[in-house]
Amino acid sequence: MDAIVVTRDDRQPRVVDRPRPEPGPGEVLVRTLRVGVDGTDHEVVAGDHGGFPEDSDELVLGHEAVGVVADPNGTGLAEGQVVAPTVRRPRGDPSAEFERGEPDMAAPGDYVERGIDGADGFMAEYFTSPADYLVPVPDDLAELGFLVEPISITEKALELAFASRSTFDWQPETALVLGNGSLGLLTLAMLDRREEFDSLYCLGRRDRPDPTIDVVEELGATYVDSRETPVSEIPDAHEPADLVYEATGHAKHAFESVTALAPNGVGALLGVPAAGWTFEVPGSDIHRELVLQNKAVVGSVNSNAGHFANAIETLAGLPDWLLDDVVTGVHGLDDVEAAFRDDETTIKTALQFDTQ
Ligand code: NAP
Ligand code: BGC
Ligand code: ZN
Repeated sequence: MDAIVVTRDDRQPRVVDRPRPEPGPGEVLVRTLRVGVDGTDHEVVAGDHGGFPEDSDELVLGHEAVGVVADPNGTGLAEGQVVAPTVRRPRGDPSAEFERGEPDMAAPGDYVERGIDGADGFMAEYFTSPADYLVPVPDDLAELGFLVEPISITEKALELAFASRSTFDWQPETALVLGNGSLGLLTLAMLDRREEFDSLYCLGRRDRPDPTIDVVEELGATYVDSRETPVSEIPDAHEPADLVYEATGHAKHAFESVTALAPNGVGALLGVPAAGWTFEVPGSDIHRELVLQNKAVVGSVNSNAGHFANAIETLAGLPDWLLDDVVTGVHGLDDVEAAFRDDETTIKTALQFDTQ
């Protein structure tokens, strides 16, 4: 079967021939429909994040997948059921977090991430997975089911952020999304559908005309150009934000977001910067603001089956125009290069495996 890999000495994603996997006990064989590409995939391809499976020089890419059960293998799932796989698997014996269905909270070292770190991903015509890590998707969402994983990331992050403000009567109205990539724009659309927020902002570094700025403005949000208005100056230029959602991976934004917050606000950090960059920040001012204004910052990574279930509901409620605008290309295996193109014309791309 065809699979898309990077190797240690060739970081360009390419199609190779791999044997079709056999499901082991408790595992299901899934026929892949589509697999999305995000910023993390670009970081993995560049060698800035993740790593190869043990004893292998090749990694099958892809962690945002939707497929169809080809062989339930006695697991109770039905043949033909559309499913989306979660990303983490135990490294060795499952830790307590895996046992209680919270692999997203597992400690580093206790997990691998399929298509990202230490385990082959889903960019192959077939993949196997324990049934417990497959979330049923309604048939009518099969085509867009590759968006369930990225949406689940924001389901979890918002849950964590709101939980941190749950001990008092928090009434957020203003949200600021840092980053106009696929995660940022999907999150902006999710916030737009929540009742709390009547004022939305999204930060980028692009000139008009630009398809991401069009999406921001069609959502009724205000586009902020970081080259003109640094994050820490957004409260003066516009207004402070009750919620900041960071999806740029630009490390300075983690700290600047504290100043962008309104009193009692919360920042959720999602970006994964390459390690090793050092820079100066006004440390005592940031510390004072966190304490004297009851501000919070939470980091959030990955998601679990519960967040996938919420994401499926969210996906069903997102407007068609938004999904049409955000998914800028679905490409066959004859055009892998287009699926991994990362320029100003692409927002969210996917690879199509099912050509039947
Ligand atoms: P992406 O498509 O690369 O989006 C990042 C966006 O941020 C780009 O549009 C980029 O603009 C913009 N940006 C970067 N630096 C900026 C700056 N200084 N000022 C203004 N805009 C800036 O990636 P993504 O898929 O949306 O993901 C976003 C981040 O979240 C990545 O770091 C990814 O690894 C991470 N992520 C984390 C999780 C998690 O579980 N925590 C899950 C998914 C993704 P240009 O395109 O104009 O350069
Ligand atoms: C994936 C998550 C993963 C994270 C860190 C994200 O792009 O969507 O599932 O945990 O990267 O590797
Ligand atoms: Zn991802």
